[in-house]
Amino acid sequence: MNRVHVIGAGMAGLSAATSLAARGVSVVLYEAAKWGGGRCRSYDDATLGCRLDNGNHLLLSGNRSTMTYLDRIGAADTLVGPDKPLFPFIDLVSGAAWTLRLNRGATPWWVLRKTWRVPGTTPRDYWALRRLQRAKPDDLVENLLGTLGPLYDRLLEPLSIAALNTKPDVAAAAPLAAVVAESIALGGAASMPRYPAIGLSESFVDPALAFLRAHGAEFRFGARVAGLTVSANRVTGLVGPNVDEIIDPDDRVILATPPWVAADLLPGLIVPNAFEAILNLHFRAGIDAGKAGFYGLLGGVAEWVFEKTEVVSVTISAANDRLDTDPQTLAAEVWSDLRRGFGLPRTMPPYRVVREKRATFAATPAQLARRPGPATSLLNLKLAGDYTATGLPSTIEGAIRSGETAASMI
Ligand SMILES: Cc1cc2nc3c(=O)[nH]c(=O)nc-3n(C[C@H](O)[C@H](O)[C@H](O)COP(=O)(O)OP(=O)(O)OC[C@H]3O[C@@H](n4cnc5c(N)ncnc54)[C@H](O)[C@@H]3O)c2cc1C
Repeated sequence: MNRVHVIGAGMAGLSAATSLAARGVSVVLYEAAKWGGGRCRSYDDATLGCRLDNGNHLLLSGNRSTMTYLDRIGAADTLVGPDKPLFPFIDLVSGAAWTLRLNRGATPWWVLRKTWRVPGTTPRDYWALRRLQRAKPDDLVENLLGTLGPLYDRLLEPLSIAALNTKPDVAAAAPLAAVVAESIALGGAASMPRYPAIGLSESFVDPALAFLRAHGAEFRFGARVAGLTVSANRVTGLVGPNVDEIIDPDDRVILATPPWVAADLLPGLIVPNAFEAILNLHFRAGIDAGKAGFYGLLGGVAEWVFEKTEVVSVTISAANDRLDTDPQTLAAEVWSDLRRGFGLPRTMPPYRVVREKRATFAATPAQLARRPGPATSLLNLKLAGDYTATGLPSTIEGAIRSGETAASMI
């Protein structure tokens, strides 16, 4: 094999590129933007005059492909989080606050402790979680779990919205089952919340690019691949406004773009085609988010609030129905929630609303059925991306795993 051409420097592309480079393979990385990271990046925000992440990203210690990736690029110590598996929540309507705590081992004795489990639940309720393991492709989260009362309202619903970025009445239960199987079901040691100490780029992107540079990879940034030249069932060239590359017969290609770009480049490829937005609001203010550094919010507009160095940052997932809300109105609503939850002043500080319109594909059964595998009809082309059939939802872990899979097939 000569070289591997990786198109797209998001998490999937960087995962594929770094795992190939670690094996001594020559990599050429093409990226349409002038920076890497795709939907998982940091940037200097002119409005607030500080560095922001495009969206708050929460990971779990059980995200094994992500942890392997961070080890590989020498960035394992850039993630932080509580030293115990704990998830604090505030109910903005009742004012109640509680912390869900798990024990580290696989036997879930935490459900026996009233002060550790979700308030209003009994140990028996958790037994019903086995329903998830039997989830069929058409089962919806709400239909399967919605009868579980406070366990659903206070834990499973917010967990589902966070993991699937899709409202539970239309979201498929199967990818939620996959998340639970790789975290809570393995015990607290696999369920520790983790997030970047500084920013997404500092953890996931900059160290990966440095790793690739050190391993001799070639970079073509600002290079949008607009077409593939194909001959005898092989990709023979990449073309675009700033790209004109001949693919040697021994070369391989990994296409790690978002699904809509992959479908443009490969006519006939079926990919997810319905998406959900995520909105993040960043306020120039501070809160004390305690040991965890974040809170789950119930009964408000946003679902999570993070304490950051220079801002308080909130996430609104499955937010298609909020895309048209005027930013000032939205910020005022969220600030009012934050005032209630954290006793903040009446005057709203400077803020920034970041809208990611196609943050993830909608995790409905119909969309899951459209996920392609990594192989394509072209002999030297593999697919990677959070939209491919990883079994996981559209997440960093899914994207990184898809990159690993594509690289392992080369
Ligand atoms: C606001 C927000 C919050 C999120 N929160 C979480 C979270 O809490 N936890 C979690 O695990 N996940 C979260 N996610 C999901 C996660 O960010 C994505 O699943 C992941 O980053 C997708 O990576 P990817 O490589 O598959 O795709 P992308 O990040 O989209 O990467 C594709 C890359 O291809 C490039 N590209 C596109 N077209 C071309 C072309 N023609 N030629 C060359 N390059 C091209 C793009 O510029 C991009 O860099 C969130 C996403 C968003 C947007």
